[in-house]
Parts: sequence; C-alpha cells; structure tokens
Amino acid sequence: MRLTVLGCAGSFPGPDSACSAYLVEAEGFRLLIDFGPGSLSALQRYAGIHSVDAILITHLHCDHMLDACSYVVVRRYAPDGPYPPIPVYAPAGAPERIASAYSPDNGPVDDVYTFYGLQPGSFPLGPFSVTVDRVNHPVETYGVRLEHDGRVLAYSSDTSPCDALLRLAQDADLFLCEASYLDGEDNPPDLHLTGREAGEAATKAAVGRLLLTHLVAAWGSEAATHDAASSAFGGRVDVARPGARYQI
Ligand SMILES: [Zn+2]
Repeated sequence: MRLTVLGCAGSFPGPDSACSAYLVEAEGFRLLIDFGPGSLSALQRYAGIHSVDAILITHLHCDHMLDACSYVVVRRYAPDGPYPPIPVYAPAGAPERIASAYSPDNGPVDDVYTFYGLQPGSFPLGPFSVTVDRVNHPVETYGVRLEHDGRVLAYSSDTSPCDALLRLAQDADLFLCEASYLDGEDNPPDLHLTGREAGEAATKAAVGRLLLTHLVAAWGSEAATHDAASSAFGGRVDVARPGARYQI
C-alpha cells in the first residue's frame, strides 16, 4: 500500500500544511483517513477529486473532518454529477455534525455520504483489513491499523498514551503517530502525545519505522520533537511533510 500525506498540521492549518488527512492506496482503491481543513486542496494534487472510494474519520474535532463539508459541494453539485454516495466510517454523530457544519439549514448529506458508525473491532474495506480501537482523547476517537498484503500501517489519530494505541501499532511497518507536544510544556492529561511519548509507544509496539505527525508548527519545535522521539526509539524517525509518499 502507499501512503500520501495530504496534511499533517496539528490542531489548525500551518504555514506549509493542511490539517490531518492521509490518502492510502492499494490495488487502485483510495481510502482517505481524516479530512482536515485545507486537505481537499492537497487531495487534488495527488488524486482525482472524485477518485476517493471511502473515507474514515477518526474523530469529530474540526481539524480532522471539516473538509468533509466542503466535499459535499464537490460531489453534489458537480456539472457531471451528482456523484453517488461514498462510504464514510466515522464516530457516532458524524452525519449530523457534517450536515450542520456544511450548512445550518440544508438538511442531511446522505445523498453524498453513506455513514457507518465506528466501533472497536476489525472489518474489511476494499483491499484493506481495518482495525480500529478507542484511544485516549476527549471525544470518541479511534486509532487505526490498516493491513494489506502482509504489511501494516498504524495511525494514532489524536491520543495520549494508552494500551489501545500499542495494540494497534504492534509490529507495524510504519507507525504514523501524533506528537503534538514537547515535555516540559503545559500538556493537559488525556489529550495528546509528546515526541518522547510517541517514541516510547513505537518502542513498546516494536514498529519498524516512526513517522511523527500532528505537530503544531506555531507552538512547537520540529527539531526538538524529532530529537525527543529519537531518544526513546532506536529505529528510523521522520517528521511527516505534506506531499510525502511512503510505500509500505
Ligand atoms: Zn483531536
């Protein structure tokens, strides 16, 4: 499978990146994981605007889902459309959240999306086997494990340290893990990971490679976050960049 980072800015768009969105492709199937602000722009650079086969939204914080609202226009009002609904796997409440954020008085968006509520467990999705589990964040949030052809991509979504994260990431070839904070900052509990904590999770889960994401450019230090993660994980550590592609 191939991962393309469409956006990796934490919490709000950065000067060089949209918010969280990751395109994962295998066997011609395109799965979009999270759809944060600005990522619809990036999607058009790396795939056809109508070529997304399914969307998985890990939680309903705006920095992970708002472009699912913009995408309603793309599919509903296309000159050669409307396009048929595509599946959206998301926490409970996603249909109402996306519809109301799209427009306060336009009604549901089920002509655009067919919603499936996420629950901890595994399910097939196109060529992928998907496993999701609840991670530790203030709203209902799912970490993701994607398997295809014997290879594993794990994605933390937003979380503080938790056992579910380690189970999802166990032996992953690539661990895409948030690192919003640095040690010594004011890190509220049960919210996010520091670079060191991301490295520790990577070590405990024995992953092959760690890719840090969700750094908050305006508040943090990319170099310090990388160093903190590297101090806790002996394997390769990189910081996600928009447009970066990884063959997994
Ligand atoms: Zn969040």
